[in-house]
Amino acid sequence: MESLINKVGANKIPYVCVAATVNMAGGQPISMENLRQVHAFCSKHGIKIFFDATRAMENAYFIKVREQGYQDKSMAEILREMCSYSNGCTMSAKKDLLVNIGGFLALNDYEIFEEARNMVVVYEGLHTYGGLAGRDMEAMALGIEEAIQEDHMRARIGQVEYVGEKLKSIGIPFVQPVGGHTIFLDAKKFLPNLKQLEFPAQTLAAELYLESGIRAMERGIVSAGRNKETGDHYYPKLELVRLTFPPRVYTQAHCDVTAEAVEAVYENRNTVIGLEMIYEPKYLRFFQARFKRI
Ligand SMILES: *Cc1c(COP(=O)(O)O)cnc(C)c1O
Repeated sequence: MESLINKVGANKIPYVCVAATVNMAGGQPISMENLRQVHAFCSKHGIKIFFDATRAMENAYFIKVREQGYQDKSMAEILREMCSYSNGCTMSAKKDLLVNIGGFLALNDYEIFEEARNMVVVYEGLHTYGGLAGRDMEAMALGIEEAIQEDHMRARIGQVEYVGEKLKSIGIPFVQPVGGHTIFLDAKKFLPNLKQLEFPAQTLAAELYLESGIRAMERGIVSAGRNKETGDHYYPKLELVRLTFPPRVYTQAHCDVTAEAVEAVYENRNTVIGLEMIYEPKYLRFFQARFKRI
């Protein structure tokens, strides 16, 4: 950040977005100390901070169990402190908040709040419901209360850890420790014979689907997209496959089946053939691209 500011100047950076347990970083949490330092740094340069709070509750749980000085704080207290290091947050409620749809923008800054409240009428609906149905707002409010309970989060993340332990005992390569909502299989190590342009992570996701019907998500070269100027792919260091756990959906038996399915693909890994892309949409290609076995 320092070098970027030196290059372009702080006034060219309207805000810094901080996200918790992001996919492209293997679902790993950020520490309170990290947030504190980002806040101190941005304050010094007059840059605002917006927090992507989508998985902030999972992150609060990790801070509680891992970071020194937080063991005796409640998750709600931790979350409040996390939010205090931002000017506002965006929330995709259908993740941590246990609801089907919705989200919100919340602000610590009255001036921006006024402007946002005015704009929401133009783009979404009145600020009191933000384009959502009232009952969805109500579900979200209840979701906040439930998701911030430690028992809930211990059960949720415990399920991810359970699958992680199983995969570890089989010798499957994945990002460790596991993330809050997800396990990331390491496709480069899983399928070392595939070149990056044969889409190892996409291939692994496809093989897992064929084996078991389990739908995973590529987070590698397909997700990275193309350089706008040169038109070439970006070549990310990591080729990961995300096994996401929707909260309160799976039983332990589902978890066992998942680990067994990954094991079955792993046993046959030497016969796996890579993919070529046969359809590439213009934007966010990882959602809609199509592939064929080479
Ligand atoms: C899902 C997600 C979004 C997008 O939210 P939608 O509700 O799907 O529009 C934004 N940020 C993060 C971190 C997410 O996980």
